[in-house]
Formats: sequence, structure tokens, C-alpha cells
Amino acid sequence: MIVYGPVPSRRLGQSLGINHIPPKVCSYSCCYCQLGRTDKMQIERQAFYPPQAIFSEVEQKLQQLMKNGQGVDYLTFVPDGEPTLDLNLGTEIAMLKLLRQKIAVITNASLLWREDVRKDLAEADWVSVKIDAVDSNIWRAVDRPHGALDLSTILAGVVDFARQYKGQLVTETMLVDGLNDSTEALGKLAELLALIRPEIAYLLVPTRPPAERNVRRPPNARLLEAARAIRRAAGVTVEWITGDEREDGFFCTGDIVEDLLSITAVHPLRAEIVNEMIKSQVNGENRVDELVKQGLLLEFWYEGKKFYRKQL
Ligand code: SF4
Repeated sequence: MIVYGPVPSRRLGQSLGINHIPPKVCSYSCCYCQLGRTDKMQIERQAFYPPQAIFSEVEQKLQQLMKNGQGVDYLTFVPDGEPTLDLNLGTEIAMLKLLRQKIAVITNASLLWREDVRKDLAEADWVSVKIDAVDSNIWRAVDRPHGALDLSTILAGVVDFARQYKGQLVTETMLVDGLNDSTEALGKLAELLALIRPEIAYLLVPTRPPAERNVRRPPNARLLEAARAIRRAAGVTVEWITGDEREDGFFCTGDIVEDLLSITAVHPLRAEIVNEMIKSQVNGENRVDELVKQGLLLEFWYEGKKFYRKQL
């Protein structure tokens, strides 16, 4: 399954996810990644799935949702790896636009120094770029990038993209306690955001089980201070995503096993949300224990909450 959801998203409304990268193929291995450590680090772009196969799956899913009276707000490229590694991303965006849906891409920005990547992303309606640090040592500690990547080249590409892009550009920064949340690190981030001028600079904290056990969210007082400092220095709108928000709007689209496995391959789910999805089925059948026993679904605990993730 390449298509999953829709998943309710605070930023995008009902977002139909497109998982067009094989499990954990990424240019980063972020210490907070909710999908675990990266299996295959790469920075070369590559064709993974035929664009026509992606288009057909999306079209079919939209038809199925429409039959049930459900719509989506965005088709979102948010795979369990880095979306711009897909050589066919531009073609896929162009094809999906024929379905008259808005297209979003959530990228770690590591390939934005490439002109072909900027050109592909330019066709999307909404793009989120990750900027976790502006200092190279901090970036290496938080995002653990592929060895051939260079942060200053990447950031120059992001600024270049921001100047040309006509759609809605937002940034996301994951703050990790003791790693990238110092006053100095936030000051440098604010200077860069002042150049990029995103519509919204989202600040996030780890809310799902991270790749490394010692990763923690900064204390609340630090988070408030961070938002204030960035707002003041960069003059941009700052919003928090802290995981304390209610996650309403998950539902089963017909096959609970397929829904659970396709969503949790990218987006680990809290146990309460899985229960809501089970209840939203016509027969209310609970297959979670069976999937866990078969080793298809993994159980995790983080900050006192139970999560499920697909075994990748
Ligand atoms: S958080 Fe995103 S960019 Fe970082 S390792 Fe995971 S998939 Fe890659």
C-alpha cells in the first residue's frame, strides 16, 4: 500500500498520505525519528515506484472515500523516508494535480541544494522544510545526516527555494532537550527564518517513541521562551505542535488491518486512536492483538502512553 489514511493533521486538515519511499530510506537518521534508525542512508535520487501505480492507488482511494461521502484536503507526500529522494516526484505531483486536489510535501530539505529537487517541489501547493539547526555540529548531533551532505549548501538551497516558491512554505523545527534548544542555537535559527520568511514556523517536540531512548522534549518554560525569541527576532508566525493537541478525525476506511498497517508504517498511533478507528468500523472487530502476535504491529511506550507502529 502506497496510499494511507486519510490522517487528520493540524496543519493540513484531512491528509491522504503517500508513502512512495521504501521503509527507512533517508538522507538523515534523526535521533528523534519515530520510525527508528535509518536502514539505508542515501542522497542519490532514484525511481522507486512507477508514477502510474501511485496515481492509480490515489485515484482509487479518492473514489472509495467519495462513495462514503468523505473528502480530503491534501494529498501529502509524507513517506517513511525522505520524499525528495524519489526521482519521479515532479512527475507524480504533475499527475496527481489532474485529480484536482491540493498537493503537500513534507521534506527534510537535505536535497534542496539540487536544482531538480527545487523544481519538483515548486509544483506542490504546500511545502514544509525541516530546519533543526543552523550550526553544523548541532545538526550532525540531531539529524545525523549522510556524510556527504553539507549544511551551509543545504541552507543556501532552502533560502533560494523560499525566494522563488509561489505556494505556501512552512518550516518545522524539532526541539530536543539539551541538543538544539540553547539560546544561541535558537538565535541563529531565528536569523535564518528571517531570511526564509515562512508562512508559519512550526516548532515541534518529540511526541512519539524516538529512535534513541535518551531523546526528551525540552521543559515547557524553555518552549515558551523559544517561541517568543523566534517570533521577536525573525518576525514570523510561530506555532507549536506539542502532541498535547487532541488527534480527532481518524477513521477506518474499510479494512482495519490495511488501515492500521499503512498508517503506522509512517505515523505511529496512540492506543486510544487505534481504539477509535476500531469503533468506527461497521463490525467493530478488534484485530490489534492478532497483528501484535504475528509481529506485524509493534507496541511501544513513550511518556506513559502506549503506541503502535508497523514492523518495517
Ligand atoms: S525524521 Fe524524517 S528525516 Fe529524520 S530520519 Fe526520520 S524520516 Fe528521515
